[in-house]
Amino acid sequence: MCKSILAIKRLGVVGAITFILSSCNYINQYFQSSANNTSKEDSIAQQLTKDFVNPDSLDYLEDSVLLDTTEAKKDTVSGERLVDTVFQKETEKPVVEKTSRKKAYRAELVDKPKHIYITFDDGPLLGSSSIDSIISAKNIKSSVFLVGKHANMSKRLYKDYEKYASNPLIECYNHSYSHANHHYEKFYSDPDNVLKDFDTNQNYFELPHKIARMPGRNIWMLDSLSYVDIKGSRRAAEVLHENGYNIYGWDVEWRINGVTGVPDRPLAQVYKEIKNLIDKQQSLVANNVVLLMHDDMFRNEKGQQLLAGLIDSLHQHPDYHFEYIRDYPKKY
Ligand SMILES: [Zn+2]
Repeated sequence: MCKSILAIKRLGVVGAITFILSSCNYINQYFQSSANNTSKEDSIAQQLTKDFVNPDSLDYLEDSVLLDTTEAKKDTVSGERLVDTVFQKETEKPVVEKTSRKKAYRAELVDKPKHIYITFDDGPLLGSSSIDSIISAKNIKSSVFLVGKHANMSKRLYKDYEKYASNPLIECYNHSYSHANHHYEKFYSDPDNVLKDFDTNQNYFELPHKIARMPGRNIWMLDSLSYVDIKGSRRAAEVLHENGYNIYGWDVEWRINGVTGVPDRPLAQVYKEIKNLIDKQQSLVANNVVLLMHDDMFRNEKGQQLLAGLIDSLHQHPDYHFEYIRDYPKKY
């Protein structure tokens, strides 16, 4: 079952039973929420923000138990996170030595730079030109995941895409051509078509990097880590990855109503969530936090002010640095 390779290895037999039960509960809750609403990225993000199992914290559990590699090898898992190279294991070392090594590593991270990845999905849409202006005014790096179909809808939107493409602070990446036409289950049931759709978008925008975000899904698939939120999407993600794409999800999502400018939660709360992930080293990779927003959130001036305000809040920290997704994760 879910996440169980790592869990069993790290928790031993008794701990593993407890962990598996809690994991099943997590996945059941997750699937219940997503089955009812597969088109909502916000429910995915909220659930993940709440329930993310930090690989670092799993690693910490490993310190207190002996590994059971036989059990782990038996497991065939899908819908799980495998973080094998972020923290390389040295299973032969004594437990005490491992514990102090991990603690020392964590303590070291506190004094290292922190990396924030501001990302916008679904552009170009109404709101994109405001993003372009705010990013320029604040002089920070950011990443946009583009949808070709949207650029093709009007000359104005295509021009907004051109603004992105010519802005040295913005890097353009691939969010599929069709955005699954908002029928996600159907889309992911045909992995070859998913690849075709991403390739079409890649060529449409002439994107220089094979960097993707999956529509309607929080999926990570890099050489160093793999996480899939909804099991049925795994094969499509694998096909993309096998064809050279790195796939990026997010740690935190912020939603703002594009028409009214009303956010799903206050700026101060989102800022605090990001800061907590950093302070507690609870993001997917410690000291690296990916924030997801959407282009259509910034049509209204209120929404634009919120974006500027969040950037200013994060900028208060001289050790926070804004990065392009291409450079994720920053290591030392
Ligand atoms: Zn999207």
